Amino acid sequence: MPTTLSPSEPAQDRSTVRTLLRLWPYVRPVRVRLFTAAFVAILASCIGLAIPLVLKWMVDGPIADRDPAGVWLGALYLLLLGLAEALLFGFRRWLVARPLSHVEAEMRADLYGHLQRLPVAFHDRWPSGQLLSRGTTDLMLLRMFLAFPLTFLLVNGVTIVVGVIIMLVQDWTLGLVILVPAVPVMVTCVVFEKKYSRAARAAQDQVGDLTTVVEESVLGIRVIKGFGRHRSQARAFRALSGRLRGTELRKARLLATILGVIVTLPEVAIGAALVLGCVRVADGELSAGTLVAFLSTALALRWPVDSIGFLLAMSQEAATATERYFEVMDAVPESGAAGGGSRRPVPRVEGLRFENVTFRYPDAPPGSPPVLDRIDLHVRPGESMALVGATGSGKTTLTALVPRLHEVTSGRITLDGVDITAMSRKELRSRVAVAFEEPTLFSATVRENVLMGADEDELERALGVAQADFVHALPDGVDTQVGEQGLSLSGGQRQRLALARAVVGRPDFLVLDDPLSALDVHTEAAVEAALRRVLADTTALIVAHRPSTVLLADRVALLSGGRITAVGTHHELLRGNPEYAHLMAADPAGEREVKR
Ligand code: ADP
Repeated sequence: MPTTLSPSEPAQDRSTVRTLLRLWPYVRPVRVRLFTAAFVAILASCIGLAIPLVLKWMVDGPIADRDPAGVWLGALYLLLLGLAEALLFGFRRWLVARPLSHVEAEMRADLYGHLQRLPVAFHDRWPSGQLLSRGTTDLMLLRMFLAFPLTFLLVNGVTIVVGVIIMLVQDWTLGLVILVPAVPVMVTCVVFEKKYSRAARAAQDQVGDLTTVVEESVLGIRVIKGFGRHRSQARAFRALSGRLRGTELRKARLLATILGVIVTLPEVAIGAALVLGCVRVADGELSAGTLVAFLSTALALRWPVDSIGFLLAMSQEAATATERYFEVMDAVPESGAAGGGSRRPVPRVEGLRFENVTFRYPDAPPGSPPVLDRIDLHVRPGESMALVGATGSGKTTLTALVPRLHEVTSGRITLDGVDITAMSRKELRSRVAVAFEEPTLFSATVRENVLMGADEDELERALGVAQADFVHALPDGVDTQVGEQGLSLSGGQRQRLALARAVVGRPDFLVLDDPLSALDVHTEAAVEAALRRVLADTTALIVAHRPSTVLLADRVALLSGGRITAVGTHHELLRGNPEYAHLMAADPAGEREVKR
């Protein structure tokens, strides 16, 4: 199924506001608190702006009249106003803290859920580090944006407007002097926005690339050490982090430029107003109190003006983070539930059938030959079919089509006569079990790893079938933690757990991708014997590389050049098909079997 965006296609020329508006569904539930908080902050700011007016009253009134009681009263007013401002800002912070961590958690949960539903083709295409960084750094940026810049762009905007009006009312000539820098400051902001948005996007993408390299080196540490590749790996890391550093420096330079303009021009204007104001007070055209009020208002506006630079920068980063978040969320998940959710009793008459199946990977270059080309294959009910072919012939791809990890390009696959695309995912997964060559164990107990939601009673039977009795000798038996955060198991042990996982739900159909590849000869013989019993009453498709695995199956299909070129028993093909004989002979274990 095609997805809409890949990591290499960032949207160009987006509108910051429109991008940020996409956050609304998440912000909606906390909107009341957020608006209340903004209102409280505006109130606090306006109280701050009343302080200069009290100063004016003090200078022109009690101070000019040399009235100490009046001065004390003024001081009391100032103290109360300051206290009210501080308390309201504290209240604002309390209002937003909890709801915003809720927003972040919701967005993260949605992202995680969505990632689970996205098709394998999506995960093939997206580097895991890009997904990781979107789920962590980007969401943190968004929470910070909602907590701070979003409110303060509004609050500071209102404060600046109210402050300028107060100044103009005090004295409109001085007010105009202060307003002169407004035009160049605004032009700088617009230019800055554009440039900073590009730099922010580059930086956040580079964090994703860096995360990918770190993740790969941690997961592949054995290969890196075994091949002495740590130097080249470190070089790759240094190159990427050097690039990120360059981008961060570019961001810092842009921020320094805008701050330079935003801080310097208003300071110069304040200086000019101070000189002009002093001259006019000396000439008796202006009261000293008015000049004090005017200048303290101008100084009170310094923080709202200075902060615009980094508030815009944080908003740009948040817009980029939103864009990156929704690039993943907009990818189309697997179509879920065609057909009913419950399992219908289906007569087991048809088995597994591939009808004229053609498959091409979604990201394959156009015009390239399909990996699988008009495959017709019938695995009869209860039959086990081995799938043999040279490396790269498409065996893994063919098996991945049955549980719908990939969707067929054309043709159809049926289970007992029912098209797999007509079944719900749930029904399909309950009828087909898979075990892959690279068994993955999650950081959980053996029990959870094998059951994966299946019935508890089946555990012992499945472990028995897979000859995985070794788990009882683990420190906590089936409750031992395994996987990354637990005990490390050997390749053979992991394969046996994966087999147990495959057979635990008593599936009608089994798809096994070379399930015995990591087993030693003795264990292999034991698992084979047990598998034989399981295979007796399931319909199975087994990718096989060695004759010992092939011999578990009733018949063999040979995959070559994207087509099924022969179907027959092992011995028939061995005698009649030179390619098959060659494939089987290439394996030393195969020779052992062939001589039998
Ligand atoms: P086999 O299991 O027989 O070794 P595969 O099914 O793994 O073969 O691969 C068949 C072909 O499909 C190979 O040429 C491989 O390069 C290609 N291929 C495998 N996985 C992908 C993928 N996720 N995206 C694109 N091409 C792929």
